Amino acid sequence: MSVAFDVEAVRAEFPILQREVNGKPLVYLDSAASAQKPRAVIEAMTRAMEHSYANVHRGLHTLANETTDAYEAARRKTAAFIGAAETEVVFTKGGTEAINLVASGLGAGLHPGDEIVLSEMEHHANIVPWHFLRERKGVVLKFVPVTDDGQLDLEAFQRLLGPKTRVVALSHMSNVLGTINPAMELTRMAHEAGAVVLLDGCQAVVHKPVDVKALDVDFYAFSGHKLYGPTGIGILYGKAERLAALPPYQGGGEMIGTVTVDEITYADPPHRFEAGTPPILEAIGLGAAIDWLSGLDRTAISAHEHRLYERVREGLNGANWLKVIGDAPGKGAILSFTVEGAHAHDVAQILDRYGIAVRAGTHCAEPLMRRFGVTSSARASFALYNTEAEADAFVDALTKTQAFFA
Ligand code: PMP
Repeated sequence: MSVAFDVEAVRAEFPILQREVNGKPLVYLDSAASAQKPRAVIEAMTRAMEHSYANVHRGLHTLANETTDAYEAARRKTAAFIGAAETEVVFTKGGTEAINLVASGLGAGLHPGDEIVLSEMEHHANIVPWHFLRERKGVVLKFVPVTDDGQLDLEAFQRLLGPKTRVVALSHMSNVLGTINPAMELTRMAHEAGAVVLLDGCQAVVHKPVDVKALDVDFYAFSGHKLYGPTGIGILYGKAERLAALPPYQGGGEMIGTVTVDEITYADPPHRFEAGTPPILEAIGLGAAIDWLSGLDRTAISAHEHRLYERVREGLNGANWLKVIGDAPGKGAILSFTVEGAHAHDVAQILDRYGIAVRAGTHCAEPLMRRFGVTSSARASFALYNTEAEADAFVDALTKTQAFFA
C-alpha cells in the first residue's frame, strides 16, 4: 500500500502535540474550533518580533519598511491561495469581523422589506450581523431549510429567491454537520436572482482548495486560526468592484485619503477597511501558515482526514446509543453526535480524562440545534495531524464514556 500522506512527519511540526493531558497523550479533535500551530508559524512570528518589527505603512525607517513588506507579502500569499487579486484581500481580526464588515457595509444601502437569505446551518457569525440589519433597517431574513441528512434544500432555496432578495449569505462548509455546500451552484442561483453573495468559508478553506474567481462569489470570509495560523486575523475577499462600492467599516488612521476639519476622503480598498494598526504579526503568521500548507498535498490531506472520519464511523457502527447529526454525501471530517442519556458537556469532560479534546455545546449554531431537536451536541473534528491510532483511541474512550450513562 502506498503511503499517500506522511502524518508522522506532519505531526512533528506541531510542538503542542507532544504534550500529555491528564496523564494521557493529547488527542486533539477540536480543530474545527481552532487548529494547532506548526513550527513554521510560531517561528515566523517569533522571528518578526526578534528581528524585524515596527508599525506598518507609516515609517521611513528600515524596520518599518521591512515589516510593511512582510505584511503586504502576507496579503499577496493569501490572495494567491484563494485566486484573488492582492487588492481584493482585506485583513480583519477574524472571520466574524469579516462578515460584520460586509453586513454593515451592504446594510447602508438596504431598505425595509429587502430580503436576505441565510440558512439553518449558519454559524452565529453569519446570522447575528444580519439580525442587526433586521432590527435597524427592517430587512427580512429568510432561512434555507436543512434536510434530515444535513444538506441545504436547494428547491426551497430556489423558492426563497425573489425580486426582493438583496443578499445571500451561506456557509461553504458547516462547522457542525461537516456538509460541504455546492458553492458554485448556490452562487449562480443567487446571482440569477440579482443578489450579492457572501460565503462563510471559515471551515471550507481549511479542507479544500478555494478559488474565489471560479466560485464567482462577491465576498468570501475566513479566519486564520482554523487554517493553522494565529488568532486575531481574518480574511475578507471581495470582488474589486464590490469592495470599491462598500462604505468604510471603522474610522481611524490608515484608511483615509485626506482629513480636514470639514471633510474626509477614503483610501482605496483594501486599506479603506483596515483602520488603525492592523494585526501585523498575525498576518505574518498567516502568511507562514499558507506557505506551509501550500507545500503539502491538499488532496492527500483531505483523503487522510476522510479516512479518519470513516474509521471512527466504522468503529462506532452498531452503537445504538449514538446519534450522529449530519450525514450529507461528500461531507468533511466533522462528527457531531449525542450520546443517549448523557449531556454533551459531560461526554466532553469524561473524554478529557482520556486526553481527548472534543467540543460540546451549541457550536454557535442554535437554529441548527433546534432544527435537529437537540439542545447541544458533542463534536469531534479531524485535522491533518490526527492519526488512525487517535481515531481508535476516540472510539474506545467514547465507548467507555457511554458506559457511565448506560
Ligand atoms: N463561521 C464558521 C462556520 C465558523 O466555524 C466560525 C468559527 N467557529 C466562524 C464563522 C467565526 O470565525 P472566527 O472565530 O474567526 O471569528
